[in-house]
Amino acid sequence: MAEIQLRNLSKRWGSFVGVQNFDLTIGNEEFLVLLGPSGCGKTTTMRMIAGLEDITEGEIIIDGKVVNDLEPKDRDVAMVFQSYGLYPHMNVYENIRFPLKVRKVDPATHDERVRRASAMVELDEFLHRKPAELSGGQRQRVALARAIVREPNVFLMDEPLSNLDAKLRVSTRAQIKNLSHELKVTTVYVTHDQIEAMTLADRVVVMSKGIVQQVGTPTDIYDMPANTFVASFIGSPAMNLVDGTLSGGTFTAKDIEISGLTGPDGPVTLGFRAEDASVSDGPAQVNANVYSMELLGDATMVTIRAGGAMLSVKAHKEYRSEIGDAVSYSVPSEICHLFDATSGERIG
Ligand code: ATP
Repeated sequence: MAEIQLRNLSKRWGSFVGVQNFDLTIGNEEFLVLLGPSGCGKTTTMRMIAGLEDITEGEIIIDGKVVNDLEPKDRDVAMVFQSYGLYPHMNVYENIRFPLKVRKVDPATHDERVRRASAMVELDEFLHRKPAELSGGQRQRVALARAIVREPNVFLMDEPLSNLDAKLRVSTRAQIKNLSHELKVTTVYVTHDQIEAMTLADRVVVMSKGIVQQVGTPTDIYDMPANTFVASFIGSPAMNLVDGTLSGGTFTAKDIEISGLTGPDGPVTLGFRAEDASVSDGPAQVNANVYSMELLGDATMVTIRAGGAMLSVKAHKEYRSEIGDAVSYSVPSEICHLFDATSGERIG
């Protein structure tokens, strides 16, 4: 059982702000993902929770207890890093057992605990091997088993999949999801990969430049991005964003005219997702020329230049056209998002 409260947490080095006023309660057994581009403060936040980084301002409360001044070893949190951090001279069994020795856990229980943890990550056959004799995925599983063996209240994972190849990343991702569900441990997971965030998280925290941009379920964040930063960070491809003018509910920009919108007259940023627009034979809201086409297997991604921006539109997998062809797209007003042209905040 562990609820983690982050109360107005800030980290500064001199005048440089790494994390600013991070305020959130992470529920017991929740899988929370910190997502954002490189340098946005994800790792710093996690290191503060772990006790590896001093806090400039604010409080961290785990299970009702302020832990600001507790040493990492006294926090009952287990960390898994991108670099596995295994001891090269120890075999897999000894690596997994190590945290039990350090914490002076009753030696009579070690063998059973090591075997249970290694079975959970399917490492039973590799217990005698040294890390150098393992693949990247197997090493990462040793690191996971070493975190599991402690039976901590909190898991902190910092990009644990980033050293794995694409296929292994997908299978290890599923394994992490399954483990966190089975073990019922509160988990904070750092990644810059939005697919990882969307597939793993109960809730996602999107960060930029040390500041939380939005907290929500993957669906919330995808369907109702709070601002243009979140809109352009979530989704593959990113949401199309076009600057233009709203007047009497009609948005206009070069090549684009969409009516039936609700919002204040004036300059706005309009957003829509590639998968929500479709090629149109009849009256269309976007008229442009094809810039490029990519076959994705299950669909064709068409890039067009319209409204002074490059826009992506997903078409049927059989759809074919030539670069330069004139094309028309239907972009229904119901699927459009509106953002303030200056602040980027969502307005509709
Ligand atoms: P990445 O995905 O690249 O790991 P991140 O979101 O985890 O990025 P952090 O490692 O939290 O980013 O770093 C946040 C910001 O704080 C960065 O701009 C980084 O350069 C800065 N920073 C980190 N550690 C220090 C330090 N010890 N002294 C000064 N600045 C630091």
